[in-house]
Amino acid sequence: MNLINKIKGFEILDLLNQANQITLKNHGDTISLERAIFLSWWCDKGDCAFCYMSTQKPLIKDPQKARRRSEAILAEVEVVNRMGWNIEFLSGGYGSFTTPEIRSLAQEIHHLTGNPVWLNIGITKDIDSYGEEIRGITGAVEVANPLLQREVCPSKNLDDILEMLDLAGELGFKKAITIILGLGETVEDLNYLFNLIEDHGINRVIFYSLNPHKGTPYAQKPQPASLYYAGVVAATRIRFPDLEIITGTWIDNLANIGPLILAGANGLTKFPLFSMFGTGKGRRVEEEVYWAGRKLEGTFSDADRLTGPSYRRDLEPFVKRYIKRCLNNKSRNED
Ligand code: SF4
Repeated sequence: MNLINKIKGFEILDLLNQANQITLKNHGDTISLERAIFLSWWCDKGDCAFCYMSTQKPLIKDPQKARRRSEAILAEVEVVNRMGWNIEFLSGGYGSFTTPEIRSLAQEIHHLTGNPVWLNIGITKDIDSYGEEIRGITGAVEVANPLLQREVCPSKNLDDILEMLDLAGELGFKKAITIILGLGETVEDLNYLFNLIEDHGINRVIFYSLNPHKGTPYAQKPQPASLYYAGVVAATRIRFPDLEIITGTWIDNLANIGPLILAGANGLTKFPLFSMFGTGKGRRVEEEVYWAGRKLEGTFSDADRLTGPSYRRDLEPFVKRYIKRCLNNKSRNED
């Protein structure tokens, strides 16, 4: 029976079992925590149907005002790095930061963490301006079915995204895509996703689930069912044993984590880190990983890892602010 029919035939436990064996064999038993670092709160599109930004666009008129200070960005990276988390990608800078500015931040982050970074900065042809500080380029595909993609993200041309990824591959960068489940796709649409991964040599897929935002057409739509989400991830893992798979889970859906790990996730993302660190919810993530039989790289609870001076004196006040937020959670929790 093919993978899609297995999902439709409710044979998801079988898929999870198979996907879990493949993941352990090909990727080992560790799970990473991933943090997307936003460069700005600006979006020059603002019309993706599911997105919070589509309800905000009239309020944000100047991309320069939406920029984050580079000290705040680097301090966040430093604290996240101390926790043992990965930088999922640098996101959202397009239109607010120039290519040389993004490159310079990426170089600093590469130096700080020792790892080259992924970018998710919109559709750009400037990829050849980047070098060894960049691991790969992420295309925010969101929906693999081209007709639905056009409806959901009218200003993000799928062909342009794929052209960018092809160019990235030619220049020696790795390629990633983001996919959101729950936007109206069918199980059969997995064929579009599988073809896209195969045709464009995608190395990493980041799955998210719909977070219904007030003011969008999805406000009253349900989030995807946990077993549907896990079934899709498992089918993808079985079809692409070496693919890196990151799965996003919202704070109200932490019970998804165990099944997603068994389905083949290598990493977890989408957590409001600074409000979760040191809380029961943060420890719940650690428990989910433990009961899936995996070892977590990084912590949601070990405050000892946060201490120490910053590697740059001018970042010190910014780093302290992030650490204080984490420690305040912890002390509130212990009251
Ligand atoms: S998904 Fe990205 S491009 Fe689309 S409106 Fe939201 S921030 Fe803008």
